[in-house]
Amino acid sequence: MTSPDLATLHAALRTVPDFPTPGILFRDITPILGHPALLDTAIRLLAAPFAGRGITKVAAMEARGFVLGAALARELGAGFIPIRKKGKLPYDTHVACYSLEYGSDALEIHTDACAPGARVLIHDDVIATGGTALAALQLVQSAGGTVVGYSFLIELAAMGGRAALEAGGYPVNSVLAL
Ligand code: AMP
Repeated sequence: MTSPDLATLHAALRTVPDFPTPGILFRDITPILGHPALLDTAIRLLAAPFAGRGITKVAAMEARGFVLGAALARELGAGFIPIRKKGKLPYDTHVACYSLEYGSDALEIHTDACAPGARVLIHDDVIATGGTALAALQLVQSAGGTVVGYSFLIELAAMGGRAALEAGGYPVNSVLAL
């Protein structure tokens, strides 16, 4: 059997209007996660641009970023760093505030998440404005890691997140640009 292509991945994505608030077009990745061949394709396409780049950790954001982020870490032979909402991590943390397409919040990372010399790929399911990803950058750097790049399954191109991240000199890869 041949692997599903990008168009099949795109077709499987579900867009839910007015969730979680009116006016938001929510990009729901659960149909991709639930389909073995699509899940495999998504992970391979996320990993390919960063293979051989010496990534030692994938840092991903709670909660949807955890799903593909952990699989991506496994695919790249790297470890996984959870970046969580404030108050969820049990050990000492660094904190960063960020704004969302729909609201604002704070994220945390364990202070010992990055060993000296850690080369970190930041992953999330969706990039919109880039605020969450910039908070993750701040957290990884606070923990002593070097950010190698960013990896997203979906880029909401009109929201301008890519430019915000590339302005810092970081490569940004998205599998699906909408
Ligand atoms: P931002 O910080 O604006 O780049 O927003 C990205 C974060 O918000 C990611 O963690 C996404 O999971 C979530 N997010 C923002 N907009 C959407 C959307 N339209 N559909 C699904 N998730 C979204």
